[in-house]
Amino acid sequence: MEAPSPLVSIPAGPLLSVAALHALVYCERLFYLEEVERIRVADAAVFAGRRLHVELAKDDSDGTWEKVTLESDALGICGTVDVLRRRDGMLVPYEHKRGRAAGKRGAYEAWDTDRIQVAAYTLLVEEALGQAIGEARVRYHATKATVRVPVDDVLRARVRTVVERARALRDTVDRPPVTDNERLCARCSLAPVCLPEEARLAADADFRPIRLLPRHADRQTVHVIESRARVGRSSQEIVVTIPDEPPKRFPAAEVGSVVLHGFAQITSQALRLCADEDIAVHWMTLGGGLIGSLAPSALSAQRHLRQFSALSDAERTLALAKRLVRAKVSGQLRFLLRATREQPRTERVAQALRELRHRMRMIALADNSQTLLGVEGSAAREYFGALPDLLGPDLDARLVFDGRNRRPPADRFNALLSFGYGMLYRHVVAAIIAVGLHPGVGFYHRPRSSAQPLGLDLMEMFRVPIVDMAVIGALNRRTFDADGDFAEAPGRVLLNERGRSKLIEALERRLQDEWRHDVVGYSLSYARIVELEVRLLEKEWLAEGGLFARFRIR
Ligand code: SF4
Repeated sequence: MEAPSPLVSIPAGPLLSVAALHALVYCERLFYLEEVERIRVADAAVFAGRRLHVELAKDDSDGTWEKVTLESDALGICGTVDVLRRRDGMLVPYEHKRGRAAGKRGAYEAWDTDRIQVAAYTLLVEEALGQAIGEARVRYHATKATVRVPVDDVLRARVRTVVERARALRDTVDRPPVTDNERLCARCSLAPVCLPEEARLAADADFRPIRLLPRHADRQTVHVIESRARVGRSSQEIVVTIPDEPPKRFPAAEVGSVVLHGFAQITSQALRLCADEDIAVHWMTLGGGLIGSLAPSALSAQRHLRQFSALSDAERTLALAKRLVRAKVSGQLRFLLRATREQPRTERVAQALRELRHRMRMIALADNSQTLLGVEGSAAREYFGALPDLLGPDLDARLVFDGRNRRPPADRFNALLSFGYGMLYRHVVAAIIAVGLHPGVGFYHRPRSSAQPLGLDLMEMFRVPIVDMAVIGALNRRTFDADGDFAEAPGRVLLNERGRSKLIEALERRLQDEWRHDVVGYSLSYARIVELEVRLLEKEWLAEGGLFARFRIR
């Protein structure tokens, strides 16, 4: 057999990894998420600059070479073959898979994705050696079977077609639709990012999605509250040291974010570990304001381009803003109803309920964002006016709410709310960045301060269920001490270290509380629901919309 000629039909461009071809054959959307939106970088650095010729120049005594990296400009691909073995005078590529082979015992076959993968390796080896190879093999460890894959002209042509398709997808900003084969999604590592079940629900209201998103946040948040604290690194651990106390150690793999309140220090070594391990670091003021963040993000120009384009459309932004405000006012209404379910309603609460219902109707009629802001503002006044009636009768008078004020908060209740909203804002902005959207481009709030408009937009939905409910609940459980948990200065009240610690604990507990999302129909922690809503927002401009901001507090 003669070696195949170079594939001149494939246009020049960055090389595709063979692993990416494997992903594409599995599902085009998986390929796009990994390779174009860079949700998972497929070992690109490993491939760079490596050449088969160097590796193959070293003949090995038993005719076996492991982890051989190859690349070909003519083929447009690169990849690392698990093993090359000399068989019948030829070097045969072997690929090792942990899973099971296709087919039945005695007639095992390679999966189609694996056939394309090993065929691509075969083409790379052929080009490097200038010698044709007619076969590759896949070792399936779960079935303890080695399957032979004949590499004929039909399979070679398929590899070329897959490469061409990959190149075409790489040049588009449109994410491919979810696969029709639902079984693939159950085994797909990117299902929590892709949300295929929610895309199917958006297309068919009768579809009943299953939960592919983990129920809880998988890594913890470390809050550093003590101002003399120092955050350092010891090997793969984050170490928090406070004078006169034993150090607290957190394995980096279990930490999702480090929040530095006030004047706590962090070393360069710890920052480097956080950057390497995708751990977000946030710096907060003592009042709960977000100063800045080092946040891991799903960087993707395509995602930002789609977001900027979608949120430049005035009709779309007004529709999204109306949905958002409806979710917020509905939350206020339902919280007042729920909190007074088992007690006689005061006239103030009854009046607020009537007014909030009226505002819900006005939202539907709003035809611009200024009108919407007016409706939202008047709903907030009604809601906050009724909040004092949700507090227990024997609460210390200094903790009772007497109207919303801020910047700076003038009383204890407002100090709690402001700190809580600051924490919520941090959480929402971190979720936006992690999903890969730009927090500076929103659809309701206008840029007016250092706060990011999309962060301000999305936190509106969660003020009531995450902050207000946590604060009122904690006050009614007598968690806060009016003397011991606050610091007063002329014209302002702040939480002191002990107060911050108590409120952070209440908010973190709230974020871990599970709740059944009534639109998707499954239960998640509030921390995950924030992430889910950010992903559902992105679906609004992916032709999979209609689910964002539709959940209701029970
Ligand atoms: S979850 Fe399903 S549709 Fe999404 S990338 Fe994976 S296989 Fe494709």
